[in-house]
Amino acid sequence: MSPGRVIKVECRCGYLLFKYYKGGRGRLIKCFLDHLTEDNVGIETLSLGTRPTCPACDKVIGEIRIVRGRPALKLNQGAIKPTRT
Ligand SMILES: [Zn+2]
Repeated sequence: MSPGRVIKVECRCGYLLFKYYKGGRGRLIKCFLDHLTEDNVGIETLSLGTRPTCPACDKVIGEIRIVRGRPALKLNQGAIKPTRT
């Protein structure tokens, strides 16, 4: 078990979409909604199947899905800045 940390997830346009508590290492593929520490998009209030967009440039940043039994945002890799831990 490696401790996680809070990372910033930004749109390609530079807008800070949200902050996320990420456990472990590796590329960010999905974000469990209950791990968001700051939400500038309003993702936490969206329902399944919704495709949230960046408030600044309107690009689709992903889709709300159930991942391992929990609501998560499956990221659109082309729309966010690459994030590695
Ligand atoms: Zn944007």
